[in-house]
Amino acid sequence: MQHMWNRFIRFLFADVKNEKETKDLAVLIRINCIIFSIYFFVTGIIMAYIHRYTLGLVMSIAVGLTVGAFIFTYENRTAAGLILLNAVVLTFPTILSLFNTYEAGYQYIIFMNILLIYFNKAKHPMSKRIYSASLMLLIMLLIQFCSVFPYYIKPKTYSMIFIQSFNILIMGFCMLATAYCYSVKFNQSEDKLRRINENLERMANLDALTGLSNRRHMNEYLSDVVYEYNRSGKIFTMAIGDIDFFKKVNDTYGHDAGDYVLTTMADIFKKFMKNKGQVARWGGEEFLFAFEEMKIEKASAELEALRKEIEQTPIQFKDYDFKVTMTFGMEEYNPRMGIEATINRADNKLYEGKTGGRNRVVV
Ligand code: GH3
Ligand code: MG
Ligand code: MG
Repeated sequence: MQHMWNRFIRFLFADVKNEKETKDLAVLIRINCIIFSIYFFVTGIIMAYIHRYTLGLVMSIAVGLTVGAFIFTYENRTAAGLILLNAVVLTFPTILSLFNTYEAGYQYIIFMNILLIYFNKAKHPMSKRIYSASLMLLIMLLIQFCSVFPYYIKPKTYSMIFIQSFNILIMGFCMLATAYCYSVKFNQSEDKLRRINENLERMANLDALTGLSNRRHMNEYLSDVVYEYNRSGKIFTMAIGDIDFFKKVNDTYGHDAGDYVLTTMADIFKKFMKNKGQVARWGGEEFLFAFEEMKIEKASAELEALRKEIEQTPIQFKDYDFKVTMTFGMEEYNPRMGIEATINRADNKLYEGKTGGRNRVVV
């Protein structure tokens, strides 16, 4: 039973073969076709039951046409399927209103056309509006016409109650199915858009190799930190670090090994800077650190611990096993100098560290 149901669902949600057609529209038409063929079939039986045999026969034509519209969606003719379904849902309830009774609410069914037509992307918006307005006018005229020229034979009370309830039920089902299809489509588009946006944001802010913030993102972050300093005097310290003899790493072990060192360092930095501030890849093998709410004394002690950790971290890449060191220059943010000059001073100290023998923190 479960197997049959799964097969049915797969069949119902089967994709369209033609690239110009959309699966959503085909599925919506299929669901509505199923509901309407059941509707016309049951209505046909009711008509036979109340001895309106001609109307019963007319309903069997409606069932045939609805099944036809259903088949169209599998034959690369989704648009034709939609037009046929619209025509059926317009014509047959009108016939029923005229010759059975307009009081049973067949005209509600005609309203489904408005929802159906709006799912079709190909139609011009203006023609959709004109079509919807014409439908409303038709229903108004139909009710007035039927009350003035009653061609119909009103069904007996119980039949009438049944037909009225059935019409409302089917109308409700169709609206529910259509609203569901709309909401699924809407949610899917929204999810997709959100994922794309998140991806774009990540790509704009992060360095592709290391996953650290890039220069652009770091500058944004720094302007926030400076703003916070100006607002509430929250002190912070900048440090710039550079891998020692990195060119030699590339030359000795290859460029891939160099990349591996960069990612290994980045992972260490990410863990190390957690709850301390922000780190970014500032240039090739240069990294910028911002220690939030930390004076230079405390930040330099922290950085000294990081320097030692790097020095002791074995790097295993392919058959190679080696270690790298880093040199750092630091400067506490000074509002008189501004952020750029603070970083420049840290950079000068880094240079001092390089000329002074490397693998050190210069305060
Ligand atoms: P120093 O101790 O003075 O910093 O020496 P160094 O060799 O580290 O400095 P130098 O500036 O001469 O070399 C930096 C090298 O970093 C050169 C460049 O090819 C390499 N590099 C920059 N970006 C990347 C990268 O993304 N991947 C790899 N593998 N190498 C990179
Ligand atoms: Mg270097
Ligand atoms: Mg460098």
